[in-house]
Amino acid sequence: MAKCRKCRKRADIFIPHHKLPLCKEDFSSWFENYLERTIKKYKMFSKKEKILIAISGGKDSLVLWKALNNLGYNTEGIIIDLGIEDFSILSLRIAENFAEEANKPLHILSLEKEIGLTIPRLKNRTKKYCSLCGSIKRYFLNKFARKNNYDVLVTGHNLDDEASSLLGNTINWHLKYLARKFPVLPSSNGFVRKAKPLCRFTAFEIKEYAKIMKIKYLEERCPLSPQATRLVYADLMDELEQKMPGTKLRFYSDYLKKVYPIFHEKMEEFMEKPLTNCEECGEPSVSSPCFICKLKKEYKSD
Ligand code: SF4
Ligand SMILES: [Zn+2]
Ligand SMILES: [Zn+2]
Repeated sequence: MAKCRKCRKRADIFIPHHKLPLCKEDFSSWFENYLERTIKKYKMFSKKEKILIAISGGKDSLVLWKALNNLGYNTEGIIIDLGIEDFSILSLRIAENFAEEANKPLHILSLEKEIGLTIPRLKNRTKKYCSLCGSIKRYFLNKFARKNNYDVLVTGHNLDDEASSLLGNTINWHLKYLARKFPVLPSSNGFVRKAKPLCRFTAFEIKEYAKIMKIKYLEERCPLSPQATRLVYADLMDELEQKMPGTKLRFYSDYLKKVYPIFHEKMEEFMEKPLTNCEECGEPSVSSPCFICKLKKEYKSD
């Protein structure tokens, strides 16, 4: 094993795309410094602001919460109970234990209480339950963050997520998604500012940080997760990365630098429908009533 680039002791971890061998201590300092640099580079938020982190119980969101706390940011967590039996029970327990240890508030929203619905019930009625689940989470996270005056809502999306969804959106020329694919989106029209501080970290680096910090996280995937096309893109990106280390970061960073500004300028043109406010719940939406208010009615009459 090579020597640590910082202290010259034996290296424990090698980060291929940065060509960086590091010992455990220097790896965690590198991780936190690189996170801080990413936050500053994209002007995501400051230490004075109130940050709400969307927690799933998985490695990404908990690592992000830990690293932001270590850096002295003002954080609180939120988790949505999706009612996916043991999986949801376990995610909630892990998130609660983390919050207690970190001495930080964790807010829990229950889908059952909010709209009388769980994701398994949704799955019985529609094949699109997974994309609906994503939209439901975004709706409630945004609503909670705005109503409770958080400055920013952050999520644990990592480089693997961002590079594979960029590949999928490019292959399918989903211009409206490409025009919004940026590590930070400013607040507008009832949407709070959103940021993805882990967007330049691979899943491998995040797992290593979790190990060093002894973070307990849920390793199982959601049992309702379908064999999504998304995973095909993720496998393709992994293969490219293996053959050409640095491809993921280059693909994503160059997109942000060279292509995003061109698409972003034309964002209005790519939107299929203009935004309005739902006449029932008041939330921003492309239709009124919004999809949540429609779901509520549909499931009430079950
Ligand atoms: S994989 Fe599970 S938690 Fe994730 S969006 Fe699909 S149903 Fe929801
Ligand atoms: Zn070292
Ligand atoms: Zn509504």
